[in-house]
Amino acid sequence: MSQELPSPDVMIDLIKVSKVYPPDVQALTDVSLTVRRGEIVFLTGMSGAGKSTLLRLLSRIEKADKGLVEVAGIDVTKLPQRQIHVLRRKVGMAYQDFKLLPERTVADNIAISMEVAYRAPVFIEKRTRELLDRLDLAKKYATPAEELSRGEQQRVSIARALANFPEILLADEPSGNLDPQTTALVMDLFHEHNRKGATIMIATHDRSLYQATSHRMIELRFGRLRTEPAEAADNGAPPGDTAAAGLTAVEEV
Ligand code: ADP
Repeated sequence: MSQELPSPDVMIDLIKVSKVYPPDVQALTDVSLTVRRGEIVFLTGMSGAGKSTLLRLLSRIEKADKGLVEVAGIDVTKLPQRQIHVLRRKVGMAYQDFKLLPERTVADNIAISMEVAYRAPVFIEKRTRELLDRLDLAKKYATPAEELSRGEQQRVSIARALANFPEILLADEPSGNLDPQTTALVMDLFHEHNRKGATIMIATHDRSLYQATSHRMIELRFGRLRTEPAEAADNGAPPGDTAAAGLTAVEEV
């Protein structure tokens, strides 16, 4: 066993993680992976490769069967249910099942993540309008979520994930229901968030998202990581702005 203390710059650390869905679907096998503060990492692989499962383990929507999952210094596998809010405050999640409250307005849905962090109403309204503006949804501020198209719902879930300036952002197929122009708006927001110090992991099979970037790309195949962790770390883009080190959330500027 190594006696080394984990580096404070490590934001996501997976060691030999496996996940089986009952009765016998081996979704992930021995996945080891380290992501440092300020990195953007693209998680790729065919449908069924285990991308969503990996993201769900990081936010403890699912629990790993074996291995270590550490996120922002929190041992996620051992985290008691009553402490999950501590993890969720550090991690913004934009997943494929948007989980919007259908009868509540777009603004209400985005406000939720800020309300639980006790943000002031003035801040919440400003941040909500800013995000909706950036995502070309300004006109939908007061629209109930159930009246939105899938692409609009997707953008609302992305806005909700970003609203509270999370240290870590996990996005599952963020371009899934979007045209290229709208995808570009989303990616601009992600990059801006990253420049403020956030660590971002994007699961996608949309090559256009990562083709022209220098960011790290890792591939899952049948639940196994294709890239060797050490090699992957070397290939990674240099961590972004580290000014946010030590903050509990990426600070707005
Ligand atoms: P990806 O996101 O790469 O498409 P997933 O993580 O969704 O892959 O799925 C990995 C494997 O786990 C697939 O074989 C899928 O069918 C299976 N799987 C995912 N979620 C569940 C679940 N809740 N119950 C059973 N099997 C599941």
